[in-house]
Amino acid sequence: MYLIDTHCHLHDREFFSEEQAEKMLENAHARGVRQVICIGTSHQDSLNASAFAESHQDVFWTYGTHPEASNDYEINCKKSKGLVAIGEVGLDYHYPGYDRDEQIRLLEESIDLAIKLSLPCSFHVRDAMSDFFSVVKNFPKLKPSVLHSFSDTKENLEYALENGFYIGVNGLITFAGLDCFKQTTPDFLDHCILETDAPFLTPEPNRGKINEPGNIADIATWLSRKLGVSEPEVAEKTTNNARKIYHLPNPEPAEPGARAEFS
Ligand SMILES: [Zn+2]
Repeated sequence: MYLIDTHCHLHDREFFSEEQAEKMLENAHARGVRQVICIGTSHQDSLNASAFAESHQDVFWTYGTHPEASNDYEINCKKSKGLVAIGEVGLDYHYPGYDRDEQIRLLEESIDLAIKLSLPCSFHVRDAMSDFFSVVKNFPKLKPSVLHSFSDTKENLEYALENGFYIGVNGLITFAGLDCFKQTTPDFLDHCILETDAPFLTPEPNRGKINEPGNIADIATWLSRKLGVSEPEVAEKTTNNARKIYHLPNPEPAEPGARAEFS
């Protein structure tokens, strides 16, 4: 089975030059990572993600404004080619000075858009889980959605799993413990997808370097060790979960020299 990077910022020229991004897509293919989702963090950044996806096979994009940009945002999006979700949107109370009401308003408007376009959300939630859960409760029509970069309590994890959320697992698992992923009810692997969040959160063994989609292979290996299941099982389940949530097509046939399968 091949792998999917469900959350990265490869289109963002603040972090990656065009050449670097091309090279990283090649690296990803060489490690069995066949599809990539570029995540928008503002109206303009989402349009950039869309343009990058448009010009690359097996790259998809999302539309959304990050909660830290809630003071000045524009929401203007219709169904478009390669658009697979609304995000990243959510709540982030980590740094002092945030405006709670403003963030909640942006989150509610974003979920409204997701429901209107019949898309799932990719959620970014930091230090704000209880407000987040009370907001999403009011939107029963929202499609099963993803909590990206989860690093909260076991209690909140189980609440999320029981309520149909999928969990985005990234490099944090290789250096931040996250033992809460072990032995959950329902079973964690049935609700989990893989992401790099590149350029951030580079997994072991490449800490200190810029992150890239090919490193999904390392995250898959760590997750298989942590959960005590085989790599093929991790690949199979996380890829199928991502395909289901984001309605991804079959990838194009692998180019010569690329690895069609991770395991
Ligand atoms: Zn991100």
